[in-house]
Amino acid sequence: MPNMSLKKNEMPTQDPHIRSGNYAEVALGYTEAAAIDEAQRCLNCKNMPCVSGCPVCINIPHFIQKTAEGDFEGAYRIITESSSLPAVCGRVCPQESQCESKCVRGIKGEPVAIGRLERFVADWHNEHSTEAPVKPESNGHKVAVVGSGPSGLTCAGDLAKKGYDVTVFEALHTAGGVLVYGIPEFRLPKEIVKKEIETLKALGVKIETNMVIGKVLSIDELLDDGFEAVFVGSGAGLPRFMGIPGENLCGVYSANEFLTRINLMKAYKNDSATPILHAKNVAVVGGGNVAMDAARCAKRLGAENVYIVYRRGESELPARAEEVEHAKEEGIIFRLLTNPKQILPDDNGNVAAIECVEMGLGEPDESGRRRPIEIEGSEFKIDVDCVIMSIGTSPNPLIKSTTEGLECTKWGGIITDEGGLTSREGVYAGGDAVTGAATVILAMGAGKVAASSIDEYIKNKN
Ligand SMILES: Cc1cc2nc3c(=O)[nH]c(=O)nc-3n(C[C@H](O)[C@H](O)[C@H](O)COP(=O)(O)OP(=O)(O)OC[C@H]3O[C@@H](n4cnc5c(N)ncnc54)[C@H](O)[C@@H]3O)c2cc1C
Ligand code: SF4
Repeated sequence: MPNMSLKKNEMPTQDPHIRSGNYAEVALGYTEAAAIDEAQRCLNCKNMPCVSGCPVCINIPHFIQKTAEGDFEGAYRIITESSSLPAVCGRVCPQESQCESKCVRGIKGEPVAIGRLERFVADWHNEHSTEAPVKPESNGHKVAVVGSGPSGLTCAGDLAKKGYDVTVFEALHTAGGVLVYGIPEFRLPKEIVKKEIETLKALGVKIETNMVIGKVLSIDELLDDGFEAVFVGSGAGLPRFMGIPGENLCGVYSANEFLTRINLMKAYKNDSATPILHAKNVAVVGGGNVAMDAARCAKRLGAENVYIVYRRGESELPARAEEVEHAKEEGIIFRLLTNPKQILPDDNGNVAAIECVEMGLGEPDESGRRRPIEIEGSEFKIDVDCVIMSIGTSPNPLIKSTTEGLECTKWGGIITDEGGLTSREGVYAGGDAVTGAATVILAMGAGKVAASSIDEYIKNKN
């Protein structure tokens, strides 16, 4: 008999007052008993609506069934037929707008907690399994992957499973893309990313770090070097600014720089060689996941007041509802319907305040969200000593400018067909480099599609 409770099993979390002073993971994960109980809420629907909401098509009812039976390793095997980063996805994927949004249990109550179960199964495997992945027999073909974010790692993993000799070239000194330099430790412990990367290495994937493609080697040089195809998963790491006065003052960061200092360079540790401003009052401009991460990091660095400054209202916040709730619990102050006009200096050129204006909401714009409109004469100041700009990113232009014939959109996204093929033969692309800033699972989906196209391309060529 299924468990007909209308509510999902709660995810235990660290107490907000304690966690806002540490970097340990906020969500603590299900116990075996809670996972089995939650898995028993699944009705094992024949038409599997939840799978249609998963960009990598995990056989969700099957893995949940195995979990309900207590066969956690069996559940892990089913997930990893489709996903190479289950412990990551179980933590950061927006399941509420994907698989869980299609779950029939969501019609009269809460959907099955698919993401929490995925996380549980992956963590159980990582804790208990001693089985090393088996390296497939080589098929003798070489493929290069540029970038080690979720799109590159997924593409590399899928090709390695088919026997390809895959080398990932990563610009930074550590592999993982945004998973290591952007998403903070308290949402996604770096040990977990490392473990998932170790699994890929055990499949034979080689990872070369400190390799900026477009500088050290070009895409054409990779092709001349015997790589039969190249996948570009270089992400969208170029920060945008508002273009308002004061953005060059000391104490203004892009969210990417601020988070990279903290996550990748561990600037929050006393012995870190990378400095970071320990500000007292911080304004984070933006309302997405990145803004929530920056605000929560600023709080953990010791700020007394951290403001989210966002020009639309609560219901338009693009961040996941869970992240907004966690940020509020940790004492982040939301200044909604508020837009910055300028950042004001003190006598030494440091940030002293941010001048904002109140906003109202008009008719929906092309994004479908109501257009923010300035309320004349409503300017006011918030005293801050640090401003973090988190209003979006674009693809870095380096690959485009060094690869002849690679067609890109006006904003720098690489243009591909449905299979990930670019305007250059043998060169494929996917993830944020193509779509602009999106999600981990969409990047993984794109890496998967491209791996399958590359396989077809190389087979047909030979
Ligand atoms: C702070 C933050 C929080 C986020 N939170 C979430 C979340 O909760 N859930 C979610 O689903 N998504 C989230 N996202 C978005 C998600 O992380 C991205 O959509 C995803 O990582 C994109 O994957 P990717 O493989 O396309 O690129 P990235 O993860 O950006 O990886 C690209 C990699 O390519 C490397 N690279 C770039 N140029 C070169 C070059 N020329 N040569 C070699 N290497 C190069 C980069 O160093 C990087 O390692 C978040 C993003 C940020 C910044
Ligand atoms: S839709 Fe929900 S109940 Fe049905 S199989 Fe998927 S997870 Fe289970």
